[in-house]
Amino acid sequence: MEKDFDEVLARTARIATDWLSTLEQRPVGETATLDELRERLGGPLPAGPMPPVQVVQELAAATEPGLVAIPSGRYFGFVIGAGLPAAVAADWLTTVWDQNAGLYACGPAAAVVEEVAGEWLRELFGLPAGSSYAFVPGCQTAHLTCLAAARHHVLRQAGWNVEEGGLNGAPAVRIVASTRRHITIDRALRLLGFGTAGLTVVPADDAGRMDVAALRAVLAGPPQPTIVCAQAGEVNTGAFDDLDAIADACAPAGAWLHVDGAFGLWVLASPALRHLAAGAHRADSWAFDAHKWLNVPYDSGIAFCAHPEPHRAALSTTADYLVQGGDGSPRDAIDWTPGFSRRACGFPVYAALRSLGRQGVADLVDRCCALARRFADGLATVPGSQVVGEVVVNQVLFRFADDETTTRVLRAVVDSGEAWLSGTAVGGRRAIRLSVSNWRTSGEDIERTLAAFRAAAS
Ligand SMILES: *Cc1c(COP(=O)(O)O)cnc(C)c1O
Repeated sequence: MEKDFDEVLARTARIATDWLSTLEQRPVGETATLDELRERLGGPLPAGPMPPVQVVQELAAATEPGLVAIPSGRYFGFVIGAGLPAAVAADWLTTVWDQNAGLYACGPAAAVVEEVAGEWLRELFGLPAGSSYAFVPGCQTAHLTCLAAARHHVLRQAGWNVEEGGLNGAPAVRIVASTRRHITIDRALRLLGFGTAGLTVVPADDAGRMDVAALRAVLAGPPQPTIVCAQAGEVNTGAFDDLDAIADACAPAGAWLHVDGAFGLWVLASPALRHLAAGAHRADSWAFDAHKWLNVPYDSGIAFCAHPEPHRAALSTTADYLVQGGDGSPRDAIDWTPGFSRRACGFPVYAALRSLGRQGVADLVDRCCALARRFADGLATVPGSQVVGEVVVNQVLFRFADDETTTRVLRAVVDSGEAWLSGTAVGGRRAIRLSVSNWRTSGEDIERTLAAFRAAAS
C-alpha cells in the first residue's frame, strides 16, 4: 500500500516542481483552446481501472496547455495571490492527512491550529479580543457567515428569533451598502433571504469610497434593525471607505457594521499602510481572504465577528450522532461555519503566518504596493498610456487614448504570454487593471511587463 503512494507522490512532486521551475519561461496565459482541451481530456467514461501513476501523468500532460500560470510573478489578474512554499506544502499535507475539520473529534490538531491561526490573525489585524472567527472557502462565504450573525443580532434586538421564525413576518431589516460594493455582498443578501431589493444603496465617489453624508442621511430615518456593509479595498481602485466616519454614523443608529476587506484588510498588517483602514477595529464583523494577499492556496477565506454569541447562534447546528464539546470545551467548526464536513483549511493559513511572521506579512503587503507604484510610474515609458485615478495600494488602473486602443493593447500583451491582466470599465470607459498580489512578483517582472506594453502600444 505505502509503495503505491511512494511512487505516485514522488512523481507528483516532480511534476509540481517542474511546473514551478518553468513559470518564468512559459506563457502566462493558456495556450490551448476550449475545443482542444475537451479533445485532450474528454472521451467516454473509462470502463476499467488505470494505475495511479499513469492517471496523474496523463492528467498533467493533458492539462498543461490549459493551465494559467497564476503562480507566475507576471500574473496580475483580479486580486489573485499565489501559494507561499510553506502554505503549498501544508496544503498537500492537509490533503494527505484528510481530517474532517467540522468536528474537533475528527481532527483535534486541525481544530487547535484554527484556534491558533485565528488568534494570530486577530492580533495581526488588531481586532477586538474575544472575537469569534471561521475559516471558510472564501470571502463570499465569509460574508454569508458574518451577515447571518448580523441578521440574528439585529432581529434579536427587535424581539425576533430569525433562526426559528425565518423572515416571514419578521421586522424589516434595512441593509445599506455603496454603489461600489462587491457583488458577493448582493449574493450573500440573496442567500440570507433579504433579496437585492432589501438593499439601500448609497453613492460613492469616483475612487469608490462610500459617501458617508449619504449614509448618515439614510440612518437618520426612524430606528430600524440595520446592517451597514462597508469596504476596505475596492476591487478596481483599491480605495478604502472611511471606516472611522462610518463607525461614527453606525453607532447612534445601533447599526451592525460589516467590513468587506477581501484583500484590503491586509493593510492592517503593515505599519506604513494601516492608516488606510483606520477604524476597522470598530466594526462588528469582517470578511477577508487568505487566498488573495496572504498567498495561501485556494480555498481560504476568513470571517471574524466581534460578537461570538450571535455568530454561534446563527450558524450552530447539532444532531444526536455527532460528538461535540468535551474536555476543556474544544471548538467544533460546524458551530461557526456554514459548512459541515470540511477541509482542514487552517493548516495552510497557519503555515503561511508561521513562515512569514508579523514582519514578513508587512513586507509582503508593502512590497506589492511598491511594485504597483513602480509599474504606474513606469507607464510614463509606454506611449499613449495614462494612469486612471491614484494608486492606493496594490491596484493600478490605466488606459490608452480610446477604448479600442485599450482593448487592442491589452489583447496583444495577453496574447504575447508575457503577462496576464484583465480589463474593466471605469466611468463608462475601458481600462486595464493590474493587481500585484503575488509574493513572487519582482522588479524584473514589472520591467518585463512594461516592456510588453511598450511593444504592444508602439
Ligand atoms: C475577491 C473579493 C471578494 C470575493 O472573495 P472570494 O474569496 O472570491 O469569495 C469580495 N470582496 C472583494 C472586495 C474582493 O476583492
